[in-house]
Amino acid sequence: MSHQVLARKWRPKQFNEVMGQSHIVDALTHALNTQRLHHAYLFTGTRGVGKTSLARLLAKAVNCEQGITTTPCEQCTSCIEISQGRFVDLIEVDAASRTKVEDTRELLDNVQYAPTRGRYKVYLIDEVHMLSGHSFNALLKTLEEPPSHVMFLLATTDPQKLPVTVLSRCLQFHLKNMPEMLINQHLASILSQEKIAFESEALPYIAQAAKGSMRDALSLLDQAISHGQGNVILDKVLAMLGCIDQQHTIALIQALAANSPEKLFEICQKIAELAADYQQVISDILHILTEIALLQTLPSATLRDETQRGVLLQLGECINKETVQLYYQIALLGNKDIAYAPSANTGFMMLMLRMLNFTPQSKSTQPSNVILKTTDQTSKNRASKLSAEKLGKIIQNPPKQQKPAVETLSPVAQDWETIINQIQLSGPLKILATHCIAKEITDSSIHLILETSQAPLLTERNKMRLNEALTTYFNKSLSLKIDITADEIASPATLLKQKIQLKNEQAHKNIEKDQNVQSILKEFNATIDINAIKAKE
Ligand SMILES: [Zn+2]
Repeated sequence: MSHQVLARKWRPKQFNEVMGQSHIVDALTHALNTQRLHHAYLFTGTRGVGKTSLARLLAKAVNCEQGITTTPCEQCTSCIEISQGRFVDLIEVDAASRTKVEDTRELLDNVQYAPTRGRYKVYLIDEVHMLSGHSFNALLKTLEEPPSHVMFLLATTDPQKLPVTVLSRCLQFHLKNMPEMLINQHLASILSQEKIAFESEALPYIAQAAKGSMRDALSLLDQAISHGQGNVILDKVLAMLGCIDQQHTIALIQALAANSPEKLFEICQKIAELAADYQQVISDILHILTEIALLQTLPSATLRDETQRGVLLQLGECINKETVQLYYQIALLGNKDIAYAPSANTGFMMLMLRMLNFTPQSKSTQPSNVILKTTDQTSKNRASKLSAEKLGKIIQNPPKQQKPAVETLSPVAQDWETIINQIQLSGPLKILATHCIAKEITDSSIHLILETSQAPLLTERNKMRLNEALTTYFNKSLSLKIDITADEIASPATLLKQKIQLKNEQAHKNIEKDQNVQSILKEFNATIDINAIKAKE
């Protein structure tokens, strides 16, 4: 027997073999069981998700010689002929190649005649949105008064191009894109049944490249098998897709988290040697950042590749949420910019440097140690890993800003404003802290007084987060007490406001005194807009 491509060979032959579309399968099997069939079905969804497969399955289910069934027998002539695409009462049309009204008329000419062999005369029109306006009108006439022995199965990737008059006469089913996890599992199961040896690490890359289409996934799997001379091998798959091993991508993010330019440069060089498709690499980075952010928010979330969970969770601990978002944004823009770079290589290097230099350092307790652990675990997973010697280098040169986390500082020696500046707060926490004055700072406690105007910010959550930030900074547990006062207090925020006001007033005076300004005012009969004058910071 000649070689049959996997996508064709593994096309679902029964409803229970249809992957990832249980909402539709349930509805169709119910309709078949109760024999309440509609005369026109519309299957929508992106390419390769199984629209025509499902339509053919339905055609088989209504025409099986054993009776209308949810499990076509696969034995009778009708079933076999439908499977082989030569059943006389299943009329398949690719609307993309037959758009003219004459074609549609010719097609519908025989509608009124009873089916030759089957129970239903089934018209399967693929890419139905390609029909011309006149063709739709011809079709509509039949849809309005269909003979009872006719069933229309329409399929399209673009239902919005269908006239509403046609849409309203069809029962519409939208097929979902296949989740990568499901594609991954399906590929593994097919390979096992085909008795083809495979490296399971290779499958997630194929699943990702298929972008939700099972047909594309199976075509890629076919290619991968021929690249691997009968087997599915990770390196061959990576080369075929222009990807790099995800371990390199993770190592890049680890190097960023460890603030290590040496490490980052080393990995970039390695990626350059692999001659990878840089846009693919950036898209990998985006995927990984998304999963890190997802785990930071919802630790129980399902991942594309569960074996990465440990590594990603740890990365999520040593890069703060804001930085992950920033990395993502930079990578997203970098993906667009790389086309304008003198070479993809320079574009990518610049992107990495931007991520390294334009993001605040993570404020977690002991980032370097976490990185060490992470990488250790990674190296257990796969062979080509960072050497312990190089890791040592990262640990020996921890980023300067993270020093306080290692030593234990005493709060007593510092005033509140200095403390705020050191711990680098942002958002509501910063506003909260800068509107406080310190009433008492001891070695184990901090007692603050907050301006009443900012009292709404004093939520339990904000107080807890501020306490955490202080605990992290001083590397010891501190009790934090915050009282509210209606009195005017000299908080850092108030002092700053006064300072700016003073500067602005000085600037007004300087401008008013200026001879040139005076002559301009006179010449043009102008006035000065005091509010527009701001002192330079
Ligand atoms: Zn049958």
